[in-house]
Amino acid sequence: TGEALVARIDELVRDVPDYPTAGVVFKDITPLLADGAAFQAVVKEMAARVPGPVDLVAGMEARGFILAAPVALELGAGFLPVRKAGKLPGPTARRDYELEYGAATVELHPFTVPKGARVLVVDDVLATGGTAAATVELLEECGAEVVGLSFLMDLTFLPGRSRLAGRPVDALLEVG
Ligand code: AMP
Repeated sequence: TGEALVARIDELVRDVPDYPTAGVVFKDITPLLADGAAFQAVVKEMAARVPGPVDLVAGMEARGFILAAPVALELGAGFLPVRKAGKLPGPTARRDYELEYGAATVELHPFTVPKGARVLVVDDVLATGGTAAATVELLEECGAEVVGLSFLMDLTFLPGRSRLAGRPVDALLEVG
């Protein structure tokens, strides 16, 4: 990544302490999305760094959608929404996973994933890696091949990367 782009992302992502709960520093990407040049540069960079051919770009609800759909267009790939529980009409494939406090579910439409489809997973923030790991497992259950995961930011003080060990994980910005 150009150093200038990394610096620009750093400038445009707003840190919100104690949101949504005490002790969490929320990474707010809305100022980055509102900057046309920066938004475009981020999408082009994410697309340029993809390791190989991709059939589908999977984005996690909700901020993953915002990045994954334009990356898919850039690559000429399809877009696959990975949604929270209960948002997609059936039939769905789903996977429950543990969060720090409680549990969550990811769901997708398996009939939109051809067997052997090469899928890139995109989200804004890699934190504990729970969401991304559940998404990878769900895609593989559906017969897809996850060729890579691409994040705008990796919170390196959390174990996201190690939970995704053995997978090609890419992040434009590492936040320590
Ligand atoms: P995790 O499953 O812990 O890796 O969390 C990933 C999901 O939660 C992603 O969809 C992120 O958008 C969101 N997330 C987790 N931590 C943060 C944070 N500090 N700032 C913004 N979003 C976050």
